Amino acid sequence: MPTAFAGAARVGTATRCCRQIPSQISLQPPSRKGWKLQKLQLTRPLKNPLTHPAVEPADGMGYSLVWFKRDLRLHDHAALHAGATHGPVLCLYVIEPSLWAQPDAARQHYEFVLESLRELARALKTLGGRLHVRTGEVTDVLAQLHALAPFERLFAHEETGNALTFERDKAVARWCRAQSVSWQEFPQFGVVRRLTSRNHWQSHWASHTQAPQLPCPQPENSAFKSFVSRTDAAGSAVARQGEATTTPMIWERNKLQFQPSPWPAQAVPSAQELGLAAFEPPDRQRGGRSAGLAVLESFLNDRCRHYRGGISSPLSAPSACSRLSPYLSFGALSLREVVQATDAKLLQLKERSAYAAKGLEAFLSRLHWHCHFIQKLESEPELAWRNLHRGYDGLREPDWNPAHFEALTHGRTGWPMVDACVAMLRETGWLNFRMRAMLVSVAAYPLWLHWQLVGQWLARQFLDYEPGIHWSQMQMQSGTTGINTTRVYNPIKQAQDHDPQGLFVRRWCPALRRVPDSWLLEPWRMPESVQAACGVRVSFDAAAGAPDAWPLPQVDLEAATRAAKDRLHSLRRTPEVRAAKAAIVEKHGSRKGRCGPTPGTRQRTPSAGGSAQLSLGFD
Ligand SMILES: Cc1cc2nc3c(=O)[nH]c(=O)nc-3n(C[C@H](O)[C@H](O)[C@H](O)COP(=O)(O)OP(=O)(O)OC[C@H]3O[C@@H](n4cnc5c(N)ncnc54)[C@H](O)[C@@H]3O)c2cc1C
Repeated sequence: MPTAFAGAARVGTATRCCRQIPSQISLQPPSRKGWKLQKLQLTRPLKNPLTHPAVEPADGMGYSLVWFKRDLRLHDHAALHAGATHGPVLCLYVIEPSLWAQPDAARQHYEFVLESLRELARALKTLGGRLHVRTGEVTDVLAQLHALAPFERLFAHEETGNALTFERDKAVARWCRAQSVSWQEFPQFGVVRRLTSRNHWQSHWASHTQAPQLPCPQPENSAFKSFVSRTDAAGSAVARQGEATTTPMIWERNKLQFQPSPWPAQAVPSAQELGLAAFEPPDRQRGGRSAGLAVLESFLNDRCRHYRGGISSPLSAPSACSRLSPYLSFGALSLREVVQATDAKLLQLKERSAYAAKGLEAFLSRLHWHCHFIQKLESEPELAWRNLHRGYDGLREPDWNPAHFEALTHGRTGWPMVDACVAMLRETGWLNFRMRAMLVSVAAYPLWLHWQLVGQWLARQFLDYEPGIHWSQMQMQSGTTGINTTRVYNPIKQAQDHDPQGLFVRRWCPALRRVPDSWLLEPWRMPESVQAACGVRVSFDAAAGAPDAWPLPQVDLEAATRAAKDRLHSLRRTPEVRAAKAAIVEKHGSRKGRCGPTPGTRQRTPSAGGSAQLSLGFD
């Protein structure tokens, strides 16, 4: 069976993984033995899916199940495309109670998914089909469906998720094997399953993102109009939004037919029924492909002008940043379509507006980092529950301080910039990169908190929670990767640099509105007389949310940060810790440059991921 979509369709029923996962997230290292790595040739020439269908054409037997996960769209959907090639499809989304019970799940994620599912269901309905949403564990749902109406093939996208999704995928693979159902998975990012070397990773990313987009298959008798991409002579794909076209070869035999429904519609559980905490940020972004496309459109046509220079301050970042992260995380937009739309815009812009073009270049570099970080978790899933560099084991874990954690998560550290960020996050579900990094840095250094529970709390706060990016960043900002430069963000300096007039702090911390400018960033230094004059008392027992009280910081910022850095650096200097660094750099370190060395050329020396990231202006 030829496999050709972006060179990397894979059969899930084969032994799949170089990942080992514990049955639940814990601070303990996993006990299982590692899985055998399988070699994957990454550098073979990629075939064009317009001339090479991803799978064999319809064989007339059974139907195909297309399992939607974090890929809630019809456009550029390799699994749907492959399913349609075989004949009738049934489109399924499973609400998994065990997944929503994980410590990284939050109501805002669930509501965002439901919003996206509603739009997906409407889109399928206009094509004459239906989205089947069932609640249950995936293997149970598959078994029920199979008993009612046996299917022969299962198609899905690969997922680099948490420990539970990986265990679940292994259970699905076992179930498919037992039922002789073939399971085929497709990458949806520039992330490589069973990657054996980072050396040519960039060229894989480029190949994935530059491959033509797959338009949604259309019903038999419809005139095809959709988003398509066309590959130019130089091999770069140019997105052409809304252009009416015919793409012969593939679409002639890839008509969308739906399998008649084997079961009645099922009510969707509420967030409460799934046991999710009631709160969600009232001002979060809304789910769905049309919302994602609108955000993309406004960014490319307008907001990108403010990208450079605007993304660091929490005042300008909400509109200067692309705000595409939740749509990428839940797959309402494909990474490929965002990259290609940006490339197309850049082609138009280059000479017209250097500023906007520079912004888009910087944005593209982040789309590259998106996959670079997810690749780390794909290659080493353990980094979601143990230190990437084992030499740092035990550094912070035994010193867990619940009072520090409570102060951080309730936005009551007493450091205005930190507490303002927590307040904004609670209201919007989003923060820019610099402020996220500052929160983790404050947790990891002056508050000396191990990253795992902090990371679970932040995962629930971030609407765009993407495990691969999240856990890699948590470790990087906490200094436990062993390969990144220690980067400690001082919240007072961050406020001076990015909120010099105190607008952000006053916006999110009402108690500080009457505090004079000179004391705003360090209110604990306010003399009694100034406290009395402005009507704000600073104390350890300040009542939460009181308009006239502000909490004293838990620790002395400067002294606690210095002590933390000393502890980390003295460990870093030990021969054992230094010795283990090279292997981590080899496995995870970025090879600088957007497209990287091409196969056959001399390879560059791997660099530590952190310095490369800084060179792209991440901080
Ligand atoms: C501790 C920590 C946790 C994070 N957790 C997540 C997460 O769960 N999900 C997530 O999407 N991003 C995460 N990020 C990265 C980054 O902060 C967000 O992607 C960004 O703030 C989202 O806003 P945007 O879409 O406007 O980003 P833009 O700045 O416009 O960037 C465009 C896209 O590039 C990717 N991207 C941007 N910055 C990074 C980065 N540093 N590393 C990897 N990819 C990046 C994202 O997909 C983002 O949507 C985290 C950063 C830190 C420091």
